[in-house]
Amino acid sequence: MLKNISLLISIFLAFSLVAGCSSSGGELAAPATTTAAPDAGVVETTAVPATTAAPATTAAPTTTTLSDEDKFINGLENAALAVEQGDNVFINCTVEAVGIDAAWSLLDMAPDEYLDNPLSVEDETALTACIDDIAVRRETAANLDASWGATVSTSPEFFYASDVPEYSRSLLEEALLAATALWGNYGPLEYWVAGLDVAAAEDLGDQFCTKRVQLGNHGNVADCLEWDYTPNFFVERAIDSSERIVNGWGGGNAGRNGNREWGLHLYSSSYPICFAEPSICPFADDQKTVFHEYFHAVQHAFIATANWDLRDELMHRENIWWSEGGAEYMAQVGSQEMRNSGVLTASEWAPLPERFGWMIWDVQEWMSDNPGQSPSTIGYGDDGQVAYSYGAWAHAYLASKFGPDVLLDTFYPGLNELGWEGAFANAYGMNSADFIVEFDEFMAQPVDVLVEILP
Ligand SMILES: [Zn+2]
Repeated sequence: MLKNISLLISIFLAFSLVAGCSSSGGELAAPATTTAAPDAGVVETTAVPATTAAPATTAAPTTTTLSDEDKFINGLENAALAVEQGDNVFINCTVEAVGIDAAWSLLDMAPDEYLDNPLSVEDETALTACIDDIAVRRETAANLDASWGATVSTSPEFFYASDVPEYSRSLLEEALLAATALWGNYGPLEYWVAGLDVAAAEDLGDQFCTKRVQLGNHGNVADCLEWDYTPNFFVERAIDSSERIVNGWGGGNAGRNGNREWGLHLYSSSYPICFAEPSICPFADDQKTVFHEYFHAVQHAFIATANWDLRDELMHRENIWWSEGGAEYMAQVGSQEMRNSGVLTASEWAPLPERFGWMIWDVQEWMSDNPGQSPSTIGYGDDGQVAYSYGAWAHAYLASKFGPDVLLDTFYPGLNELGWEGAFANAYGMNSADFIVEFDEFMAQPVDVLVEILP
């Protein structure tokens, strides 16, 4: 337990630096994972695992036979478990309560070692407040567990910086609601959208943090503003999007950044340039991005566990072709369908086979640069974009061979019980390694042969 905790702290601190000063994305305590989407030029932070926690155990036992000392140790054990499961609020609280050095040594020891290295009375009182806080939050989270993964009847909630134009908001909401109509309405869901103006972005950050405090996700607004990814993202993205527009560039950054622990699908998006400035890029590009992001909510809704590592495993996060390719394929095809049927506002874009053709070029170039290797091994990072393209094609291939409904009707419903590999075999009748061999051979064919399988 102790080494895990100290590792988590390292990740947490490293992440905090990232969130504060770079343009990378991520989630509280999650590795910063910024990857380019295939054709849109949208840099997105996606599929970041929902930070976890929400176990069933709650506060320290309250039987009167326990001494105060035992209660305190029980509380520490409860807190250590939560930290191990990715609860950063406790780490933050502890650092604030007792200082970074004491917090560090405290979190690096097993709870039962505490009696040999006790804190001062003042520090112990301050730490007790953090322990009590975690007990309340874990109880709340445990109650949320029961409803995770169910579709809801409430609408997604949208929050915008004040300078996001009304027509862009309408287009974005139209797209997200169309995606929920297509795949099911998973919630609760919050979609936060930055603008171009820095002061407006800061106001949005205040609004975000006020809401987080109201819902018990953060202890106070100041900590949220300093530590949480999202408010910092708004400001960074406002600056970045302004530069893009001046240069006539599209692109941006959007992501589902959690949060299983909060019982919420939480999104943050940069200014939707294609919705706002269609002379730069077509609406369709941003429509597809919204669909892509929403599909990540669908994926996460099917994963019940609150354990961070298990969520990663079930997302098949180490090799991103599955989750990112799935989101990309479903978004490309789904948003096109919804445009064709008139649900989405019309927008001129390259035809679907042409867009998938761009992806083949990415994949085949990578395969020729990396002979004997498979893009199925790519993770988030420099070659991430290739994995999106490769994965989108892998899903196109599976949908063509087994039917377009197997993913949502068979694979995902089996995921919790069977695990990723078991669910894959259950849905597609082969193991994933055999599939990759078969699919890599398929991808080596000429473009005009490949596009024949597209819907
Ligand atoms: Zn994604």
